[in-house]
Amino acid sequence: MNKQSIYGLTFEQLTAWLIEHGHKKSRASHVWEWLYRKRVTDFSDMIDVNKECSQLLSEHFAIQTLTEHTKQQSADGTIKFLFKLYDGNLIETVLMRHKFGLSVCVTTQVGCNIGCSFCASGLLKKSRDLSSGEIVEQVMNVQHHLDQAGEGDLVSHIVVMGIGEPFDNFTNLVDFLNVVKDQKGLALAARHITVSTSGLADKIYEFTDADLRVNLAVSLHAPNDELRTRIMKINKAIPIEKLMKAIDYYLERTNRRITLEYILLKDVNDQREHAIELSELIGEHRRSLVNVNLIPYNPVDEHSQYQRTDRATVSAFYDTLKKQGVSVSVRLEHGTDIDAACGQLRSKQIKAEAQRSG
Ligand code: SF4
Repeated sequence: MNKQSIYGLTFEQLTAWLIEHGHKKSRASHVWEWLYRKRVTDFSDMIDVNKECSQLLSEHFAIQTLTEHTKQQSADGTIKFLFKLYDGNLIETVLMRHKFGLSVCVTTQVGCNIGCSFCASGLLKKSRDLSSGEIVEQVMNVQHHLDQAGEGDLVSHIVVMGIGEPFDNFTNLVDFLNVVKDQKGLALAARHITVSTSGLADKIYEFTDADLRVNLAVSLHAPNDELRTRIMKINKAIPIEKLMKAIDYYLERTNRRITLEYILLKDVNDQREHAIELSELIGEHRRSLVNVNLIPYNPVDEHSQYQRTDRATVSAFYDTLKKQGVSVSVRLEHGTDIDAACGQLRSKQIKAEAQRSG
């Protein structure tokens, strides 16, 4: 049987496990420091941790369950990692360099069942959820990569926007967030972490009540049900009205800003009337707490029905929203010279392997 990743334990879970196995509570802090501050990749390197304890840990847990399969580096410093999981599945993780810091985009599931019609990842149905340890390990592997470069760089931001619907893997998502936020370890600021959902309304309520204080982004992509259902079939089950009610609950309870993601698809949802409808949907009462993030579409071979919106139309959409008093931004693109769309590198690799074996 494969050993569980040690990164899957929150500090409280590690403490409880050590106590249950006859060790002092204080050992948890030592182990935690070796994992997240000194960042060893072997239990035997935890030199001031009692040998019996490090041995016991190595018998039950693994530090490395992911292996690097492929890495693509862009001219702008973006690195796309393809990791192989213990069961042979491949996942993508991306490191992006911004002016404000280094951000990692993590994957939460192998494949995705939401089936957004523009998405390369959604073509491959979900085969399983990632464990919390596998999600944390993506961040740790990127951090180990930075450590090896020796420039003292630290991951400062996390976006949970890779392959999968994070709210469809809720418990593991919450454990992951608690590990990376832990002040004794990576100590990522909650305001530097963003979780993006396709709009699972029930989970938005649960997420709000969990009071994790991380940012929330919701993929809206269309201002009305007819269009949204065409682009995202999840809208059939969770129409916009139900989604907006959940968003209102989040806004009222947290008083935090929310991002509405809006992917611009040429001649589909990028016209002036769509911008006006979007601003009406947001309405006066939500305006101060909502930011619309416009995302220029990265065309993928598998979805030839969609093209990229030209710059002038992006600007016009942006201006229309601004004039209506809506806070709006355009997502900066990273890694445009590599397989930039989410899931593109993974699906290419899977196809290549299928061709080789077929
Ligand atoms: S965009 Fe996200 S939620 Fe939609 S199919 Fe792709 S991975 Fe799933």
